[in-house]
Amino acid sequence: MAQPWHRGKWQTVRKAILKRDNHTCQIRGPQCTTHATHVDHILSPLRGGSWYGAHNLRASCPPCNLTRPTHKPGTRRKTKPSRHW
Ligand SMILES: [Zn+2]
Repeated sequence: MAQPWHRGKWQTVRKAILKRDNHTCQIRGPQCTTHATHVDHILSPLRGGSWYGAHNLRASCPPCNLTRPTHKPGTRRKTKPSRHW
């Protein structure tokens, strides 16, 4: 579900992050041995995080990316953010 305004650039950034992190899932770290194919925003762009900043991106595998807790202490979301992949 790529959004038109970042199609292309996102693919480039995504590949760079996966390469940087050696296709290793960064969410559960060494405990996760699943091949990372997703790139996760550490701080959601919907909450002010950078879309393309490498410091805000990490490689993740789909299971970790989709099941990680989205609520940080002290924060609440009423609606789920839309995924962009
Ligand atoms: Zn993982």
